[in-house]
Amino acid sequence: KPMENRITDIGPKDYHDFYPPVIANNKGKWSHHEILEPGVLVHVGDSGDEVYTVRVGGCRLMSTSHINEICDIADKHCDGYVRFTTRNNIEFMVDSKDKVEPLKNDLASRKFAGGSNKFPIGGTGAGVTNIVHTQGWIHCHTPATDASGTVKATMDTLFDDFQQMRLPAQLRVSMACCLNMCGAVHCSDIAILGYHRKPPMLDHEYLDKVCEIPLAVAACPTAAIKPSKQTLANGTEVKSVEVKNERCMYCGNCYTMCPSMPLADTEGDGIVLMAGGKVSNRISDPKFSKVVVAFLPNEMPRWPSMTDAIKKIVNAYSNGANKYERLGDWAERIGWEKFFSACELDFTHHLIDDFRQQAYMSWRQTTNFKF
Ligand code: SF4
Ligand code: SF4
Repeated sequence: KPMENRITDIGPKDYHDFYPPVIANNKGKWSHHEILEPGVLVHVGDSGDEVYTVRVGGCRLMSTSHINEICDIADKHCDGYVRFTTRNNIEFMVDSKDKVEPLKNDLASRKFAGGSNKFPIGGTGAGVTNIVHTQGWIHCHTPATDASGTVKATMDTLFDDFQQMRLPAQLRVSMACCLNMCGAVHCSDIAILGYHRKPPMLDHEYLDKVCEIPLAVAACPTAAIKPSKQTLANGTEVKSVEVKNERCMYCGNCYTMCPSMPLADTEGDGIVLMAGGKVSNRISDPKFSKVVVAFLPNEMPRWPSMTDAIKKIVNAYSNGANKYERLGDWAERIGWEKFFSACELDFTHHLIDDFRQQAYMSWRQTTNFKF
Protein backbone atom coordinates (compact mmCIF):
# COMPACT_ATOMS: atom_id res chain seq x y z
CA LYS A 1 0.00 0.00 0.00
CA PRO A 2 1.52 3.24 -1.13
CA MET A 3 3.32 6.04 0.29
CA GLU A 4 1.14 8.88 1.34
CA ASN A 5 0.26 8.57 5.00
CA ARG A 6 -2.42 11.11 4.62
CA ILE A 7 -3.82 12.70 7.71
CA THR A 8 -6.73 14.47 6.05
CA ASP A 9 -9.52 13.41 3.75
CA ILE A 10 -9.11 16.46 1.53
CA GLY A 11 -8.80 15.81 -2.20
CA PRO A 12 -9.55 12.74 -4.27
CA LYS A 13 -9.15 9.26 -2.90
CA ASP A 14 -5.82 7.56 -3.44
CA TYR A 15 -5.81 6.34 -7.03
CA HIS A 16 -4.27 3.01 -6.01
CA ASP A 17 -7.66 2.12 -4.55
CA PHE A 18 -9.20 2.21 -8.00
CA TYR A 19 -7.05 -0.32 -9.87
CA PRO A 20 -8.89 -3.26 -11.41
CA PRO A 21 -7.64 -6.40 -9.59
CA VAL A 22 -5.71 -7.68 -12.62
CA ILE A 23 -3.79 -4.39 -12.81
CA ALA A 24 -3.15 -4.27 -9.06
CA ASN A 25 -1.79 -7.83 -9.23
CA ASN A 26 0.55 -7.15 -12.14
CA LYS A 27 1.66 -3.61 -11.37
CA GLY A 28 5.30 -3.10 -12.35
CA LYS A 29 5.49 -6.63 -13.75
CA TRP A 30 4.28 -6.23 -17.30
CA SER A 31 5.93 -8.24 -20.05
CA HIS A 32 4.69 -6.40 -23.16
CA HIS A 33 1.71 -4.83 -24.84
CA GLU A 34 0.39 -4.54 -28.38
CA ILE A 35 -2.37 -2.84 -30.32
CA LEU A 36 -4.60 -5.59 -31.70
CA GLU A 37 -6.72 -3.31 -33.87
CA PRO A 38 -7.55 0.41 -33.79
CA GLY A 39 -8.75 1.18 -30.26
CA VAL A 40 -8.06 -2.25 -28.77
CA LEU A 41 -4.91 -3.04 -26.79
CA VAL A 42 -3.66 -6.00 -24.82
CA HIS A 43 -1.18 -5.81 -21.94
CA VAL A 44 0.41 -9.08 -20.86
CA GLY A 45 1.95 -9.56 -17.43
CA ASP A 46 4.99 -11.71 -16.56
CA SER A 47 2.43 -13.89 -14.78
CA GLY A 48 0.63 -14.53 -18.08
CA ASP A 49 -2.35 -12.40 -17.00
CA GLU A 50 -3.87 -10.32 -19.79
CA VAL A 51 -5.71 -7.02 -19.78
CA TYR A 52 -7.69 -6.04 -22.86
CA THR A 53 -8.45 -2.34 -23.22
CA VAL A 54 -11.10 -0.87 -25.49
CA ARG A 55 -10.49 2.85 -25.93
CA VAL A 56 -13.33 5.13 -26.97
CA GLY A 57 -13.46 8.84 -27.67
CA GLY A 58 -14.86 11.03 -24.93
CA CYS A 59 -15.30 14.74 -24.54
CA ARG A 60 -13.94 17.09 -21.96
CA LEU A 61 -17.30 18.37 -20.81
CA MET A 62 -19.71 15.52 -20.13
CA SER A 63 -23.30 15.54 -18.94
CA THR A 64 -24.14 13.53 -15.83
CA SER A 65 -26.38 11.25 -17.90
CA HIS A 66 -23.42 10.48 -20.20
CA ILE A 67 -21.19 9.72 -17.20
CA ASN A 68 -23.93 7.50 -15.77
CA GLU A 69 -24.02 5.59 -19.04
CA ILE A 70 -20.23 5.15 -18.95
CA CYS A 71 -20.54 3.78 -15.42
CA ASP A 72 -23.34 1.41 -16.50
CA ILE A 73 -21.07 0.01 -19.24
CA ALA A 74 -18.22 -0.36 -16.75
CA ASP A 75 -20.55 -2.16 -14.30
CA LYS A 76 -21.84 -4.48 -17.00
CA HIS A 77 -18.53 -5.48 -18.60
CA CYS A 78 -15.62 -4.40 -16.41
CA ASP A 79 -16.62 -5.15 -12.79
CA GLY A 80 -17.23 -1.45 -12.26
CA TYR A 81 -13.77 -0.20 -13.27
CA VAL A 82 -13.20 2.51 -15.87
CA ARG A 83 -10.33 4.81 -16.76
CA PHE A 84 -10.14 8.28 -18.34
CA THR A 85 -6.96 9.17 -20.22
CA THR A 86 -5.35 12.61 -20.14
CA ARG A 87 -6.84 13.20 -23.58
CA ASN A 88 -10.38 12.49 -22.37
CA ASN A 89 -10.55 9.07 -23.96
CA ILE A 90 -12.46 6.49 -21.94
CA GLU A 91 -10.84 3.09 -21.46
CA PHE A 92 -12.88 0.00 -20.63
CA MET A 93 -10.64 -2.84 -19.46
CA VAL A 94 -11.49 -6.55 -19.26
CA ASP A 95 -9.35 -9.45 -18.08
CA SER A 96 -10.01 -11.99 -20.83
CA LYS A 97 -10.28 -12.00 -24.60
CA ASP A 98 -13.78 -13.46 -24.72
CA LYS A 99 -15.12 -10.34 -22.98
CA VAL A 100 -13.85 -7.99 -25.71
CA GLU A 101 -16.41 -8.66 -28.47
CA PRO A 102 -19.50 -8.32 -26.21
CA LEU A 103 -18.05 -5.03 -24.92
CA LYS A 104 -17.36 -3.75 -28.44
CA ASN A 105 -20.84 -4.76 -29.63
CA ASP A 106 -22.47 -3.04 -26.67
CA LEU A 107 -20.47 0.14 -27.34
CA ALA A 108 -21.34 0.09 -31.05
CA SER A 109 -25.05 -0.31 -30.27
CA ARG A 110 -25.20 2.95 -28.30
CA LYS A 111 -26.11 5.84 -30.63
CA PHE A 112 -27.04 9.48 -30.39
CA ALA A 113 -30.49 10.46 -31.67
CA GLY A 114 -28.92 11.45 -35.01
CA GLY A 115 -27.47 7.95 -35.44
CA SER A 116 -23.79 8.64 -34.75
CA ASN A 117 -21.86 6.51 -32.27
CA LYS A 118 -21.83 7.68 -28.67
CA PHE A 119 -18.71 5.66 -27.96
CA PRO A 120 -16.51 5.52 -31.10
CA ILE A 121 -13.64 3.05 -30.72
CA GLY A 122 -10.16 4.23 -31.75
CA GLY A 123 -7.47 6.69 -30.77
CA THR A 124 -4.50 4.31 -30.73
CA GLY A 125 -1.22 4.02 -32.62
CA ALA A 126 -0.47 5.71 -35.95
CA GLY A 127 -3.58 7.84 -36.06
CA VAL A 128 -5.22 10.78 -34.37
CA THR A 129 -6.31 10.47 -30.79
CA ASN A 130 -8.48 12.87 -28.84
CA ILE A 131 -7.36 16.49 -28.70
CA VAL A 132 -6.03 17.68 -25.37
CA HIS A 133 -7.56 21.09 -24.85
CA THR A 134 -8.40 23.95 -22.54
CA GLN A 135 -11.47 25.77 -21.23
CA GLY A 136 -12.48 28.14 -24.01
CA TRP A 137 -15.35 30.54 -23.84
CA ILE A 138 -17.37 28.26 -21.62
CA HIS A 139 -15.20 28.66 -18.58
CA CYS A 140 -12.00 30.73 -18.71
CA HIS A 141 -11.73 34.51 -18.69
CA THR A 142 -8.90 35.10 -21.22
CA PRO A 143 -9.64 32.92 -24.27
CA ALA A 144 -9.12 34.32 -27.76
CA THR A 145 -11.11 31.47 -29.26
CA ASP A 146 -13.31 28.64 -28.11
CA ALA A 147 -11.92 25.26 -27.09
CA SER A 148 -14.88 22.89 -27.31
CA GLY A 149 -16.06 24.36 -30.63
CA THR A 150 -12.69 24.31 -32.39
CA VAL A 151 -11.93 20.83 -31.06
CA LYS A 152 -15.30 19.43 -32.14
CA ALA A 153 -14.89 20.92 -35.64
CA THR A 154 -11.33 19.55 -35.90
CA MET A 155 -12.18 16.07 -34.63
CA ASP A 156 -15.12 15.87 -37.04
CA THR A 157 -12.63 16.64 -39.84
CA LEU A 158 -10.06 14.09 -38.62
CA PHE A 159 -12.52 11.47 -37.37
CA ASP A 160 -11.54 8.79 -39.94
CA ASP A 161 -8.01 8.93 -38.59
CA PHE A 162 -9.32 8.43 -35.05
CA GLN A 163 -10.82 5.12 -36.10
CA GLN A 164 -7.91 3.95 -38.24
CA MET A 165 -4.14 3.69 -37.98
CA ARG A 166 -3.17 4.61 -41.54
CA LEU A 167 -0.90 7.60 -40.84
CA PRO A 168 2.91 7.24 -40.89
CA ALA A 169 3.04 7.68 -37.09
CA GLN A 170 0.92 9.03 -34.30
CA LEU A 171 -0.37 12.55 -34.82
CA ARG A 172 -1.01 14.47 -31.61
CA VAL A 173 -3.26 17.52 -31.85
CA SER A 174 -3.56 19.98 -28.98
CA MET A 175 -5.56 23.12 -28.39
CA ALA A 176 -5.07 26.10 -26.08
CA CYS A 177 -7.36 29.10 -26.16
CA CYS A 178 -4.75 31.75 -25.24
CA LEU A 179 -0.99 31.84 -25.15
CA ASN A 180 -0.92 30.83 -21.49
CA MET A 181 -1.23 27.44 -23.18
CA CYS A 182 -2.99 25.31 -20.57
CA GLY A 183 -3.33 22.84 -23.48
CA ALA A 184 0.42 22.27 -23.77
CA VAL A 185 0.35 23.15 -27.45
CA HIS A 186 4.04 23.99 -27.58
CA CYS A 187 5.11 20.37 -28.33
CA SER A 188 2.35 18.95 -30.56
CA ASP A 189 2.33 17.65 -34.12
CA ILE A 190 -0.46 20.12 -34.80
CA ALA A 191 -1.41 22.84 -32.35
CA ILE A 192 -4.39 25.17 -32.36
CA LEU A 193 -3.71 28.31 -30.36
CA GLY A 194 -6.12 31.12 -29.58
CA TYR A 195 -4.36 34.45 -29.93
CA HIS A 196 -5.28 38.03 -29.05
CA ARG A 197 -3.87 40.75 -31.29
CA LYS A 198 -4.87 43.84 -29.39
CA PRO A 199 -3.66 45.19 -26.04
CA PRO A 200 -6.03 45.45 -23.08
CA MET A 201 -8.77 48.06 -23.06
CA LEU A 202 -8.67 50.21 -19.94
CA ASP A 203 -11.77 51.04 -17.98
CA HIS A 204 -10.36 53.94 -15.99
CA GLU A 205 -13.66 54.68 -14.24
CA TYR A 206 -13.72 51.36 -12.41
CA LEU A 207 -10.12 50.19 -12.51
CA ASP A 208 -9.05 51.43 -9.10
CA LYS A 209 -12.34 50.26 -7.55
CA VAL A 210 -12.14 46.63 -8.72
CA CYS A 211 -8.39 46.02 -9.08
CA GLU A 212 -5.28 46.08 -6.96
CA ILE A 213 -3.16 48.28 -9.23
CA PRO A 214 0.22 46.91 -7.97
CA LEU A 215 -0.94 43.37 -8.77
CA ALA A 216 -1.95 44.35 -12.29
CA VAL A 217 1.43 46.06 -12.81
CA ALA A 218 3.33 43.06 -11.43
CA ALA A 219 1.33 40.61 -13.58
CA CYS A 220 2.77 41.87 -16.84
CA PRO A 221 5.68 39.74 -18.08
CA THR A 222 6.94 42.47 -20.39
CA ALA A 223 6.68 45.36 -17.91
CA ALA A 224 4.23 47.15 -20.20
CA ILE A 225 1.99 48.45 -17.42
CA LYS A 226 2.68 51.34 -15.08
CA PRO A 227 0.47 53.19 -12.60
CA SER A 228 -0.86 56.51 -13.83
CA LYS A 229 -3.39 59.16 -13.00
CA GLN A 230 -6.20 59.60 -15.53
CA THR A 231 -8.86 62.24 -15.94
CA LEU A 232 -12.40 61.00 -16.64
CA ALA A 233 -14.77 62.75 -19.07
CA ASN A 234 -16.45 64.51 -16.14
CA GLY A 235 -13.11 65.98 -15.04
CA THR A 236 -12.54 63.69 -12.06
CA GLU A 237 -8.95 62.56 -11.58
CA VAL A 238 -8.60 58.85 -10.74
CA LYS A 239 -5.83 56.36 -10.06
CA SER A 240 -5.42 53.93 -12.93
CA VAL A 241 -2.77 52.39 -15.19
CA GLU A 242 -1.17 53.10 -18.54
CA VAL A 243 -0.10 50.38 -21.00
CA LYS A 244 2.84 50.75 -23.34
CA ASN A 245 1.15 49.03 -26.27
CA GLU A 246 4.32 48.30 -28.22
CA ARG A 247 5.56 46.16 -25.33
CA CYS A 248 2.32 44.16 -25.03
CA MET A 249 2.32 40.52 -26.19
CA TYR A 250 -1.44 40.13 -25.62
CA CYS A 251 -1.10 37.42 -23.01
CA GLY A 252 -4.03 38.51 -20.85
CA ASN A 253 -2.18 38.13 -17.54
CA CYS A 254 -3.24 41.67 -16.58
CA TYR A 255 -6.90 40.77 -17.15
CA THR A 256 -6.45 37.79 -14.82
CA MET A 257 -5.53 40.29 -12.11
CA CYS A 258 -7.77 43.13 -13.17
CA PRO A 259 -11.23 42.78 -14.74
CA SER A 260 -11.01 46.39 -15.92
CA MET A 261 -8.34 45.42 -18.49
CA PRO A 262 -10.21 43.10 -20.89
CA LEU A 263 -8.61 41.94 -24.17
CA ALA A 264 -11.44 40.09 -25.91
CA ASP A 265 -12.10 41.71 -29.27
CA THR A 266 -14.00 40.35 -32.27
CA GLU A 267 -11.47 41.55 -34.85
CA GLY A 268 -8.37 41.07 -32.77
CA ASP A 269 -9.01 37.52 -31.57
CA GLY A 270 -8.46 34.39 -33.61
CA ILE A 271 -6.35 31.33 -34.13
CA VAL A 272 -2.70 30.56 -34.81
CA LEU A 273 -1.75 27.10 -36.09
CA MET A 274 1.54 25.53 -35.11
CA ALA A 275 3.05 22.25 -36.29
CA GLY A 276 5.96 19.89 -35.95
CA GLY A 277 6.36 19.57 -32.19
CA LYS A 278 6.56 16.41 -30.13
CA VAL A 279 7.29 15.34 -26.58
CA SER A 280 8.65 11.90 -27.44
CA ASN A 281 12.39 11.29 -27.83
CA ARG A 282 11.80 8.26 -30.03
CA ILE A 283 13.97 8.38 -33.21
CA SER A 284 14.64 12.13 -32.78
CA ASP A 285 14.78 14.66 -29.95
CA PRO A 286 11.64 16.35 -28.63
CA LYS A 287 10.79 19.50 -30.57
CA PHE A 288 8.82 22.68 -30.13
CA SER A 289 5.91 23.35 -32.47
CA LYS A 290 6.52 26.11 -35.03
CA VAL A 291 4.01 28.71 -36.18
CA VAL A 292 2.78 27.73 -39.66
CA VAL A 293 -0.40 29.82 -39.97
CA ALA A 294 -0.05 33.24 -38.35
CA PHE A 295 -3.72 34.09 -37.99
CA LEU A 296 -7.16 32.77 -38.82
CA PRO A 297 -10.33 34.59 -37.77
CA ASN A 298 -12.85 33.06 -35.40
CA GLU A 299 -15.47 31.58 -37.72
CA MET A 300 -18.05 30.16 -35.36
CA PRO A 301 -19.50 27.61 -35.13
CA ARG A 302 -17.38 25.36 -37.41
CA TRP A 303 -14.12 27.28 -38.08
CA PRO A 304 -13.90 26.18 -41.77
CA SER A 305 -10.63 28.00 -42.62
CA MET A 306 -8.95 26.38 -39.61
CA THR A 307 -10.19 22.86 -40.37
CA ASP A 308 -9.25 23.27 -44.08
CA ALA A 309 -5.69 24.22 -43.13
CA ILE A 310 -5.42 21.32 -40.65
CA LYS A 311 -6.75 18.86 -43.22
CA LYS A 312 -4.18 20.06 -45.77
CA ILE A 313 -1.35 19.56 -43.27
CA VAL A 314 -2.56 16.06 -42.35
CA ASN A 315 -3.03 15.03 -45.99
CA ALA A 316 0.42 16.29 -47.02
CA TYR A 317 2.01 14.53 -44.03
CA SER A 318 0.10 11.33 -44.72
CA ASN A 319 1.18 11.33 -48.38
CA GLY A 320 4.77 12.43 -47.88
CA ALA A 321 6.17 11.04 -44.64
CA ASN A 322 7.99 7.75 -44.19
CA LYS A 323 6.71 5.09 -41.82
CA TYR A 324 7.31 6.05 -38.14
CA GLU A 325 8.21 9.63 -39.14
CA ARG A 326 6.47 12.24 -36.99
CA LEU A 327 5.21 15.40 -38.66
CA GLY A 328 8.13 17.56 -37.47
CA ASP A 329 10.68 14.95 -38.57
CA TRP A 330 9.08 14.87 -42.01
CA ALA A 331 9.12 18.68 -42.28
CA GLU A 332 12.78 18.79 -41.25
CA ARG A 333 13.71 16.04 -43.72
CA ILE A 334 12.07 17.72 -46.72
CA GLY A 335 12.89 21.24 -45.45
CA TRP A 336 10.37 23.63 -43.92
CA GLU A 337 10.30 25.55 -47.21
CA LYS A 338 8.87 22.48 -48.94
CA PHE A 339 6.54 21.83 -46.01
CA PHE A 340 4.66 25.02 -46.89
CA SER A 341 4.25 24.14 -50.56
CA ALA A 342 3.31 20.52 -49.76
CA CYS A 343 0.62 21.75 -47.35
CA GLU A 344 -0.52 24.54 -49.70
CA LEU A 345 0.04 27.10 -46.97
CA ASP A 346 1.31 30.63 -47.56
CA PHE A 347 4.68 31.48 -46.12
CA THR A 348 5.21 34.87 -44.48
CA HIS A 349 8.01 36.29 -42.38
CA HIS A 350 5.92 35.72 -39.23
CA LEU A 351 6.27 31.96 -39.49
CA ILE A 352 8.32 29.09 -38.08
CA ASP A 353 10.37 31.36 -35.87
CA ASP A 354 11.82 29.66 -32.85
CA PHE A 355 13.97 30.63 -29.93
CA ARG A 356 16.30 27.69 -29.56
CA GLN A 357 19.20 29.56 -31.11
CA GLN A 358 21.52 31.49 -28.87
CA ALA A 359 20.91 35.17 -28.25
CA TYR A 360 17.41 34.86 -29.72
CA MET A 361 18.73 34.41 -33.22
CA SER A 362 15.84 32.82 -35.04
CA TRP A 363 15.98 29.66 -37.10
CA ARG A 364 15.10 31.70 -40.16
CA GLN A 365 18.34 33.64 -39.77
CA THR A 366 20.46 30.52 -40.03
CA THR A 367 22.08 29.23 -43.18
CA ASN A 368 19.75 26.21 -43.01
CA PHE A 369 16.85 28.30 -44.15
CA LYS A 370 16.67 28.64 -47.93
CA PHE A 371 13.71 30.86 -48.85
FE1 SF4 B 1 -7.73 30.20 -20.02
FE2 SF4 B 1 -5.65 30.68 -21.63
FE3 SF4 B 1 -5.81 28.42 -20.28
FE4 SF4 B 1 -7.46 28.92 -22.31
S1 SF4 B 1 -5.24 28.62 -22.44
S2 SF4 B 1 -8.02 27.99 -20.34
S3 SF4 B 1 -7.80 31.11 -22.07
S4 SF4 B 1 -5.58 30.49 -19.39
FE1 SF4 C 1 1.23 42.91 -20.21
FE2 SF4 C 1 0.10 40.67 -21.14
FE3 SF4 C 1 -1.42 42.70 -20.24
FE4 SF4 C 1 -0.08 42.96 -22.52
S1 SF4 C 1 -1.75 41.53 -22.12
S2 SF4 C 1 -0.22 44.48 -20.89
S3 SF4 C 1 1.80 41.80 -22.09
S4 SF4 C 1 0.01 41.46 -19.03
